[in-house]
Amino acid sequence: MALQFFDTRTRQLEEFRPLDPAGRGVKMYTCGPTVYNHAHIGNFRAYIFEDLLQRWLEYRGYKVERVMNLTDVDDKTIRGCREAGVPLAEFTQPYKDAFFDDLKTLRIEAATHFPNATDDRHIERMIAMIAQLIESGIAYQADDGSVYFRIGKFPRYGQLAHLDLDELRPSGRVQNDEYEKESIGDFALWKAWTEADGDVAWESPWGRGRPGWHIECSAMATGLLGPRLDIHCGAVDNIFPHHEAEIAQSESCTGETFVRHWLHCAHLIVDGQKMAKSAGNFFTLRDLLERGWSGREIRYALLAIHYRQQLNFTFDGLAAARAALARIDAWVGRLKVAGSEEPSDFTMPAQAAFDECLDDDLNISGALGHLFTIIRESNAAHDADSLAPADARALLGWWGRIDQTLAIFPDPEPVPREALDLVERREAARKARDWAASDALRDQIAALGWQVKDTPTGQQLSPA
Ligand SMILES: [Zn+2]
Repeated sequence: MALQFFDTRTRQLEEFRPLDPAGRGVKMYTCGPTVYNHAHIGNFRAYIFEDLLQRWLEYRGYKVERVMNLTDVDDKTIRGCREAGVPLAEFTQPYKDAFFDDLKTLRIEAATHFPNATDDRHIERMIAMIAQLIESGIAYQADDGSVYFRIGKFPRYGQLAHLDLDELRPSGRVQNDEYEKESIGDFALWKAWTEADGDVAWESPWGRGRPGWHIECSAMATGLLGPRLDIHCGAVDNIFPHHEAEIAQSESCTGETFVRHWLHCAHLIVDGQKMAKSAGNFFTLRDLLERGWSGREIRYALLAIHYRQQLNFTFDGLAAARAALARIDAWVGRLKVAGSEEPSDFTMPAQAAFDECLDDDLNISGALGHLFTIIRESNAAHDADSLAPADARALLGWWGRIDQTLAIFPDPEPVPREALDLVERREAARKARDWAASDALRDQIAALGWQVKDTPTGQQLSPA
């Protein structure tokens, strides 16, 4: 089966057709966090979906160049730094650092680029794009000093979200003097400085101010990846107006189709309810770690539901993730014990089915179902003594390959300092051809729970 994804614009499954089929390169843009607080698990649901997408494309031989931006200037970050009484950059930095730590905890692959909206080169590009839009009559400066995108000048506006634009056009019922904008749907490209902005401002041909959120993404996406992207992702609440605006701005500037495939993931709810601080069901990753859940357990719980399905996050769900991982760990442990050195070419039908599921719009729940079929059947074969060591080794190799995508296997245990010291002493004993000492040291290492193996490249340690 060809790789296919559900496209937000066409509302149907579309075969993945990269812009550069020969080169296997894929350009992907994913809207990143607004760094005014710690990201919550709903945010991470989207980032984990995007991580699965990237990893599966890589498994299929594509080379993904991904941008994930950091929104470090907008209403919320400005409000936050004003309340904290510190400069904007000082306010956002700890949240940026925390975000990168969280990505590591959840084993989310680093993007190729993590641009900051406030970097000079991106601010310059935003200003250049806005100037171009004004020049071509698509944008205008209103009486309030801000610059707006004239949505009436972009006939495709609303196509991604399947919106009826008439609802956004001015009508007799809208008092025009309530709006400085020409049309209620026009969105800000450049926001003129107001007192609430404090010292957060950049100079522009339209006076002091700051960019709108939408132009930030258009400028960083086209600046880093070029005018055309293969894939743009986000959560469903990014579709309108954010992604609609990104299309309008980018395509009006470049004259090219901005994005070939649009993918969006559904919401996360907690215990059947919308996550909200007031409801007491609002969790950051840190909250869950403090309650004793591990990064891989949280990753599994957020990963295991198809991205287009609403994910109902519960502590029972986390416990189920813990149990699923324990089953996988036990299975891998058995394969390791049984596996001989050379794998056979043994495969099970569910392995191909696993791949087909992920090719089919990242059907992860289906794929995991096949993984557990394999676990059940190979455990049964093992119990019946009918799993050949070379076949166990082959299954282990397959697991290693698919875990490049799932990224759920535990990190290797760190070797304790004491064992490393003993290995060093054993190295010296072996150089001195003191075999008795070497054997004694091997026993001491074993007593610490580690196995030492002598190989042509030296001693190798593994958990016993
Ligand atoms: Zn964005």
